[in-house]
Amino acid sequence: MQTQVQNELIENAIESGKLLGMLKYLPDGQLTHAPFSMSPYSISASDLQEMTELTSYFSELMIRISQDWAFLEHHLKPISETDPFLKMLLDFRKQEVAQSKQLLIQRNDFFITKDELSNGGQDRITENETSADSSLRQVELNTVSASFPFLITQLVRLHQNLYEQKLLEQIIPNNPLNPVVDAFAKAVRDYGSADAVMLMVSQPAESNRFDQLGLEQLLWEEHKIQTVRKSLTEIYENGCLREGHLVLDGKTVAVTYYRAGYTPDDFRTSEAIKGRQMIEASSTVQVPDLPMQLAGMKKIQQVLTRPEILSAFVSPQISKLCLKTFAGMHCLDEIIETPEGELCASEWASMNPDKYVLKPQREGGGNNYFGREIPKKLAKMKQEEQNAYILMEHIQAKTHSAILVVDGQAETMNCVSEIGRYGICFAENGVVQSNRDVGYLVRTKAENVNEGGVCAGFACLNSLTTA
Ligand code: ADP
Ligand code: MG
Repeated sequence: MQTQVQNELIENAIESGKLLGMLKYLPDGQLTHAPFSMSPYSISASDLQEMTELTSYFSELMIRISQDWAFLEHHLKPISETDPFLKMLLDFRKQEVAQSKQLLIQRNDFFITKDELSNGGQDRITENETSADSSLRQVELNTVSASFPFLITQLVRLHQNLYEQKLLEQIIPNNPLNPVVDAFAKAVRDYGSADAVMLMVSQPAESNRFDQLGLEQLLWEEHKIQTVRKSLTEIYENGCLREGHLVLDGKTVAVTYYRAGYTPDDFRTSEAIKGRQMIEASSTVQVPDLPMQLAGMKKIQQVLTRPEILSAFVSPQISKLCLKTFAGMHCLDEIIETPEGELCASEWASMNPDKYVLKPQREGGGNNYFGREIPKKLAKMKQEEQNAYILMEHIQAKTHSAILVVDGQAETMNCVSEIGRYGICFAENGVVQSNRDVGYLVRTKAENVNEGGVCAGFACLNSLTTA
């Protein structure tokens, strides 16, 4: 049972969080605080260092893949035959690239696995040989709409304030917001048009509005750069092309930042599709551009777990570091070694659904299949749809107790924490100009919850502390 003192601490934390702008919209339009944890996640110095060092390697990997259209097409085109969303994305490709500058703002998400002893009983047949050397397992790398740079910076401010008042333990400093905003400012300035703006492509009903607004506000305050915020449909309706520039509300768009456009829901109307085509036809710097968005697809993540494919893009040393963090991933029709002999991966996953996550080529949460949903989905799936999905080993993350505060209510639960590292990379014609790690995101959720969305109410923002 919580004491009076604890209740007051949590009440104050909620109010302070609201004051800092840690807010989200509920489906009825009311505002509430973003879910957060009052128990910083303890990480070892070596896990933190390993994760941080990987950021720039993974950013460079994504840039290299984005330069190899033949590779992307080879792996994604067969899927587009049954997946109209992917087909539409591939069709956006323009033959002549109007913009040689690239800006990638990515977030690389990991779990830290249970220690080897407690993992001993598991079948680790799908793992790469080298992965036993690391307790990190990559969940996915987000090349599009890597969200929460504002909200996590504010949560860390809240935790830091509580620490200074001796109400919480010391946490690891973190501010991805400023570097992300500075990167947008640099990209806008480098575009070379006076009074140019940033375009924030957004979803019409966005519950995570405040994460975007915090970024827009800092871009104005620090750099006096305006942000125009529009849905894809509004871009088509209000925009035009002038000498290759995208012009909206009379202003030249130097940078187009996608916080939408990663789900079929964003393309329900033909106007929305034309909106994206208009952006593609212009010379605006797209964050991310189409090949970078495609490089973040789950199919690409899966094929990169094959050492011979990964090594075509990175040096042997970097390949080794990346491979250590990969969970086992398979195509559904792949023949794999199992304790019961060689079997088709989909057959084995149907028999052992708790060991896998089934993933389509989608972003944004809520699209994956877990546990008992897997055999049901596989049974219904047509043969020709199989290649649109990948199977991923279900990562057994280290569990810990945490106080989670969701919609005004605090509860202590057994939890897992997913840690993301933000990376910013500038490139020109695929040649990296600058590349760095700029901070972390932690999302803590009850251990029995599968999905990870903060605004969907599944996961809580959290900070890191050293073990
Ligand atoms: P999305 O693009 O929809 O965010 P993710 O691959 O990031 O898809 O999966 C969403 C969430 O599902 C993750 O944040 C994580 O909590 C959980 N998840 C995904 N893959 C795994 C896995 N292999 N093992 C355990 N949990 C996973
Ligand atoms: Mg994700």
